[in-house]
Amino acid sequence: MDNLAPPKPGARPASSFVYDKAFVNGEWVAASSGKTFEVVNPANGKVIGSVPDMDATDTERAIKVAYKAFQSWKETTAKERSTLLRKWANLVNENIEELSKLLTSEMGKPLAEAKGEITYGGGFLELFAEECKRVEGDIIQTPVKSRRLLVLKQPIGVSGMITPWNFPNAMITRKAGAAIAAGCTVVLKPAEDTPYSALALCDLAKEAGIPAGVLNVVTSSRNNAGQVGKTICESPLVTKMSFTGSTAVGKLLLQQCASTVKKVSLELGGNAPFIVFESADVDAAVQGVMGAKFRCSGQTCVCANRIFVHESIYDEFVQKMAVVVEKDLKLGDGIDPGTTQGPLINKKAVEKIEAHVQDAVSKGAKVVCGGKSKGGNFFEPTILTEVTNEMRCSREEIFGPIAGIIRFKTEEEVVGLANATSSGLAGYFYSRDFSQIWRVAERLESGLVGVNEGVISTPDAPFGGWKESGLGSEGGRYGIEEYLEIKYVCMGGLQ
Ligand code: NAP
Repeated sequence: MDNLAPPKPGARPASSFVYDKAFVNGEWVAASSGKTFEVVNPANGKVIGSVPDMDATDTERAIKVAYKAFQSWKETTAKERSTLLRKWANLVNENIEELSKLLTSEMGKPLAEAKGEITYGGGFLELFAEECKRVEGDIIQTPVKSRRLLVLKQPIGVSGMITPWNFPNAMITRKAGAAIAAGCTVVLKPAEDTPYSALALCDLAKEAGIPAGVLNVVTSSRNNAGQVGKTICESPLVTKMSFTGSTAVGKLLLQQCASTVKKVSLELGGNAPFIVFESADVDAAVQGVMGAKFRCSGQTCVCANRIFVHESIYDEFVQKMAVVVEKDLKLGDGIDPGTTQGPLINKKAVEKIEAHVQDAVSKGAKVVCGGKSKGGNFFEPTILTEVTNEMRCSREEIFGPIAGIIRFKTEEEVVGLANATSSGLAGYFYSRDFSQIWRVAERLESGLVGVNEGVISTPDAPFGGWKESGLGSEGGRYGIEEYLEIKYVCMGGLQ
């Protein structure tokens, strides 16, 4: 935690959120094996600290704790849960500066983006503090005079969660906020690279008065992730599993959950098309693609992965985009003011991006700007032209700062290409043709569509993928439903 400016007077320093323990039953605990692993700043390779490397035994203990806590938490009123969630949200907002520094130091995204994520993350707690008071049942018209038919919605139980490194705060509040609001308890495994943002949320939850055992965070290294995940997925005490991460791991967890027929939510990888039609406002589309492509150095599941531009405006779009990339993007340590592009998460990510550029160039793509790694985990923001839908950067999720631009001729052709993928998370397009806007918004096979907007996520709206991008929805009023069971009660024998 070097390099950080001192906190504002009265605020907690970011270093006070750096723990060497995990959080189970309201206490800071070590792994039963005593093992730990190091957390490294991806911008400079320096070790921030170490946290417990927990395993299946520790996970089972956390599940038992969460199961016991569920017996009383489910009896609380929505109003009681709402008050605590609201306090938690307030504490997140009060500590935004220091939580952002912590997030940037472990994940690498620029400080301004980290603040954006903490605001977004706190927004889920605020939203679910409100939504839990609106969980309502039903009374159904009875076909039999002596009966009344009721529908109750009740908390599903202990909810297991596994989250990724690219949104170390918001992916936790989006899941845990909804679960806790619904009356469930949580056992959560954060990513190896970013445990501190998860532990900071536990600290603030405790300060807010959320009872022991309601939120439990089990930290583990990549080596132990498999056994922690399997324990959660196969435990009969866990009745819900929610995962955000890669499609490959999501499929594995879905299989593991089959043995206990858990309710499963999956938020998986994407391959978002970003289409610029001939009627588009080109300058607005360029601004839109900058956010959709380069936010978080291209490491978000909703990042534009394939940029399709109509042949009539292709050259103009490329030229304008190159000017903005050269002028506005600055690579560096996210903690430095002025940095817009932080490091990638690790060396493996840099190698993957290099391989994507090499593959594209070997098949005829041209490098307009960037194209090289800059040492450490840094990679230049890159524009490639003459990209085709067959290249690796079009077929796979890039997860890095490469903008591959594909030429198209007709709406029918481009919608076909956009949908020719097993992913279906986000899609974007720019057009000023009203009929086309409706046609394309309805025809894109994805759970989220941005029309003349490049960044569309908000706690208030549902977030979920179609096809292999996921199951279920998070956020908005839909998010809390994932943690509820429906019960039909038939009251009979009425005179
Ligand atoms: P990942 O490898 O699937 O990791 C995600 C989480 O799963 C981490 O906590 C990881 O732990 C854990 N994990 C890995 N292998 C596991 C196993 N065998 N069993 C149980 N848990 C396991 O994904 P990532 O590369 O870190 O994250 C990027 C991916 O997440 C991208 O595909 C991105 O699109 C997706 N994502 C999706 C959304 C969405 O809402 N749809 C949002 C953000 C990210 P370790 O860190 O310890 O390996």
